[in-house]
Amino acid sequence: MEELFNGVKAFNAEDYQDNKTLFRDLSRRQNPHTLFIGCSDSRVIPTLITKTMPGDLFVVRNIANLVPYYRQSGEYLSTTSAIEYALNILKVENIIICGHSNCGGCRALWMKEEELESIPHTRHWLNLAFKVKDTVLRRQDMDDDIKRERITEQINIVQQMNHLVTYPGVKERYRQGKLNIYGWYYIIGTGEVFNYSRDRQVFEKI
Ligand SMILES: [Zn+2]
Repeated sequence: MEELFNGVKAFNAEDYQDNKTLFRDLSRRQNPHTLFIGCSDSRVIPTLITKTMPGDLFVVRNIANLVPYYRQSGEYLSTTSAIEYALNILKVENIIICGHSNCGGCRALWMKEEELESIPHTRHWLNLAFKVKDTVLRRQDMDDDIKRERITEQINIVQQMNHLVTYPGVKERYRQGKLNIYGWYYIIGTGEVFNYSRDRQVFEKI
């Protein structure tokens, strides 16, 4: 824990001092251009992999970077309210859904019921990705677990992009070119990020 306290001191003494003007400007308002929806995984750091500064990204992170299908509901508010706020108040121009390799949340989709007993809320949350599993099961090329893992993670990203379009106004703004929607796949072990091409239906290295 001491490491974290020392980190706070170093941040204030060094990083803050180096960017004092930026922080002072940001204290009055934020105007992020992008909503970044990523996994809660400790290895996925949005500002690190995009080399962005405070004020650039409005971030929502949850297990397996899921976007609940839009409906009037009191469920999953943490994620749906962040998306709503980014769209209607901050009026972001871009939305990135960033999945990643070695995702524990995506792996949990394949766990047995008894393995999920100790994490009932996580199990309920992952129900939002049930279609992903169905899509993977329909494919004939799942030779091994590693391939299945990667395909699950990638199909999940595309599925969540589709869910995003169900939010009020998103489809119109997307069609009018006022909103860009991206699906990214980050590989932890290589530091590479792949961007989904809707035309070619593949992830292409950025
Ligand atoms: Zn993850």
